[in-house]
Amino acid sequence: MKTGIITTDTYLNHDTGQGHPERADRVSVVIENLKKNKKLIWKKPLKFDTKYLKIAHESDYIDEVENSFPKKGLHFLDGDTIVSPGSRQASTDAVASIITAIDSVQNKEFKNVFCPVRPPGHHAEKDKAMGFCIYNNVAVGAHYLIDKYKFNKIAIIDFDVHHGNGTQNIFYDNEKVLYISTHQYPFYPGTGANNEKGKHDNILNIPLPAGTNSEEYLNAYEHVLKKLKEFKPEFLLFSAGFDAHQDDPLAQFKLSSKDFYDITKRTLKVINKSINNKVVSILEGGYDLNALKESSEYHLKALIEN
Ligand SMILES: [Zn+2]
Repeated sequence: MKTGIITTDTYLNHDTGQGHPERADRVSVVIENLKKNKKLIWKKPLKFDTKYLKIAHESDYIDEVENSFPKKGLHFLDGDTIVSPGSRQASTDAVASIITAIDSVQNKEFKNVFCPVRPPGHHAEKDKAMGFCIYNNVAVGAHYLIDKYKFNKIAIIDFDVHHGNGTQNIFYDNEKVLYISTHQYPFYPGTGANNEKGKHDNILNIPLPAGTNSEEYLNAYEHVLKKLKEFKPEFLLFSAGFDAHQDDPLAQFKLSSKDFYDITKRTLKVINKSINNKVVSILEGGYDLNALKESSEYHLKALIEN
């Protein structure tokens, strides 16, 4: 079986305004680069039952979002989360991509899947848009695995340099989901201290200082691997943000592109048996185009080798 890439071109119409770091070029460079790899199979997201959106988010919030898309121009959901007319389809397709990815792994169409999509999702809480995120794509995916496929142990690994406050918020008291985040701290969005552990010890936050380099990061990552081993997940979701790269303009970690290969490889090595190779990864942040292109290629290299 091959690795699948699930995405569509509607992300191009999610306009965040001039000079915004979360821009369409981010996904375009990743897609153009991955197209050179003949080992990958491409697929578009299929329509999904929106009831799954309502498991992760409050219905009032979904109504608020659906009513926020302007007929023209831009609308601010928060200080830096902006929507345009094309954002309706783009945000729906980002969620549809992870749902289609999960179905494709479950149907054995692909061995694993990466979704290069936008808007990202991990800052979106049950009832709040934040940090460029509208719907929490990975959280909808985890709820879909539980509701549709009856999984009882889902692990979400979030190596984006920012804490995924939204994913933590959605699963804080859900013992079926282990959420692990490594992130710069103190930093945006302010959450992610190591005493935020979830109601069932199902949250593991690994806050690291600005300036964290590859060696320091990979040493700290051993705690992620240990927790994963103990949890023995049945399915793994990556919240794959590449803004911990040394060239990223929004944060101050010093990872190299190849570190994303090591992170992915080490993770898969410790839990391949328990997850039976079931992995879906979805793009979160990453704001230097070249770093994003190279780092996502290294992440895919490990997924392809698996
Ligand atoms: Zn980020």
